[in-house]
Amino acid sequence: MREQVRHFPRRPLAAAVLAGVLALTGACEFTDPAGASSPAAQGTRVATRSPDPRRTARPPGAFDEDGFQEDLRTAETVTDDYWRRHWERLFTGRYRSPRVVGLYNGRDPQTAPACGDERLQRDNAAYCPPGDFVAWDAHLMRSGYARGDAWVYLVIAHEWGHAVQNRLRRGLVSPAAELQADCLAGAVLYGSSDEGALRFEDGDEQELVDAFQLIGDKAPWTKPGDHGTAVERLRSFSRGGTNGVKACFA
Ligand SMILES: [Zn+2]
Repeated sequence: MREQVRHFPRRPLAAAVLAGVLALTGACEFTDPAGASSPAAQGTRVATRSPDPRRTARPPGAFDEDGFQEDLRTAETVTDDYWRRHWERLFTGRYRSPRVVGLYNGRDPQTAPACGDERLQRDNAAYCPPGDFVAWDAHLMRSGYARGDAWVYLVIAHEWGHAVQNRLRRGLVSPAAELQADCLAGAVLYGSSDEGALRFEDGDEQELVDAFQLIGDKAPWTKPGDHGTAVERLRSFSRGGTNGVKACFA
């Protein structure tokens, strides 16, 4: 998923058990993709354009750091632009961008960003209401990206959804806030695609399905703070994708 399509080779996945799920109070919950198995994610990306010749050659299977950084920037820009373009049609007031802290090293408590009194945790991503910033653990993002670039778009659009929720009056924020953030992520990514700001490549939609398989809770949504099962999360994401932002507030 990107503005300029180019080839991204897939890496074979080592089969392993699901990694432990890490929670951050009031924030999101992701599972480290490096520790998970998902045979469906081993499909081959079909390139629609030849590789960018400006990129230096990489050994087969090497992590595409340039592509990773570019996708992070694109996901941030596309998501922010979407909300800026549509805010006044949807809500009152003017849109304000959250601050993007972006990548952090959750394995180093000294440098992990603080949200209130807590440091952001390893293998997680968060919107921090007191600081009004979004941030994502570098290992979480790199290991997800190694399975497919759609991962970074999903995580970033989801966290941005929490920033949007924090800008709205309480009554608009669903008790199922995590599912609503998934819905908003779907609205942004598919809406941006409809508007030509983003292009889905072959394989992206399967990557999104696989990502929800990884990050879904084992039990269905019952109370605020729950994320919902993979099926619930994907259904919510798809509702936003098909019907737009307003469907996330229905
Ligand atoms: Zn969340």
